[in-house]
Amino acid sequence: MSGAEPIELVTDHAAGTPWTGPLLEVRDLCVTFSTDDGPVMAVDHVSFTLEEGETLGIVGESGSGKSVTSMAILGLLPRQATVTGSVRYRGRELVGLKEKELQPLRGQHLAMVFQDALTALNPVHKVGAQIAEAISVHQTISDADLKTRVIELLELVGIPNPSERAEQYPHEYSGGMRQRAMIAMSIANEPDVLIADEPTTALDVTIQAQVLEVFERIQDRTRSSILLITHDLGVVAENCTRVIVMYAGEVVEEATTVELFARAHHPYTEGLLGAMPKVGGNEERLATIPGTVPPPTAWPLGCRFRERCAYAWERCEREHPPLYQIGAGHTSRCHLADEPERRANPHAPIAAQRGATAA
Ligand code: SF4
Repeated sequence: MSGAEPIELVTDHAAGTPWTGPLLEVRDLCVTFSTDDGPVMAVDHVSFTLEEGETLGIVGESGSGKSVTSMAILGLLPRQATVTGSVRYRGRELVGLKEKELQPLRGQHLAMVFQDALTALNPVHKVGAQIAEAISVHQTISDADLKTRVIELLELVGIPNPSERAEQYPHEYSGGMRQRAMIAMSIANEPDVLIADEPTTALDVTIQAQVLEVFERIQDRTRSSILLITHDLGVVAENCTRVIVMYAGEVVEEATTVELFARAHHPYTEGLLGAMPKVGGNEERLATIPGTVPPPTAWPLGCRFRERCAYAWERCEREHPPLYQIGAGHTSRCHLADEPERRANPHAPIAAQRGATAA
């Protein structure tokens, strides 16, 4: 078996100088899909960095553009998608790379954990063989070492009796075990960056917690950086050091997790926090954000959240808010940063008024 050719990752530095910048740097990332009705933008100038060993959460409802962002980073979008802007991994530009240039990076340096393990695992191959394949694509390794490595990986992700389990097919695994097997496959080559897109959404709460513990274990062991994409702020609170909140294709707030939970600024983030179940609280009385995320074909002018916002005023309709600096490392795409006195006058959002009329 022959391994992949080593790739040069440090391109912006003098040869031999170790890379000291962010592990992953996304700048002004835009994704536009060509459709029968013309071009439709799904991700709009998204920027963020991921540092070494960090877990960064990207949170937002479905339709916020978070999954498209993650697929764009790995070059996994269909041909109808046009990606512009910049995604740099250890300084190397990934946007515009050909598939054959991206392939050695994927799996070996940047890997993805998908939401649905059942579709990601091949039903006709044994789990151990699939993990072995993920390793041997990138590494030259003897059969004996390969077998040991597969068992080590299954052990690391908490699969009991790994030697026997390696010989089973995906359908013989429970949902939680399949998810762990897929994680084992994703980390088989100890990637620097692990992108996990709603990795626990399909699982029940207990299994969710166990799978998230697996990520912690992996990070302790491999120092991987994790980009955790989720709609669940509870998952962010437990696992992430920093958070990016996305809404209608753009970043609307960024802060450390501690700062976001203590001093959320954007009304959308406030709404997401308000919708979180409280410990010992009555889930029947959970606050919800009225309305839904507008599809990319119907992003309004001005602030895209304005129909659902309890503070919207006329400026929000005419002026698209920039990302305002709220504090150190804390930004918010909301005009309230400029006119904080407006917060004193909340009102029923347009979406709630519509809901009341419809009821
Ligand atoms: Fe609400 Fe206006 Fe802020 Fe948008 S800019 S979130 S509409 S207050």
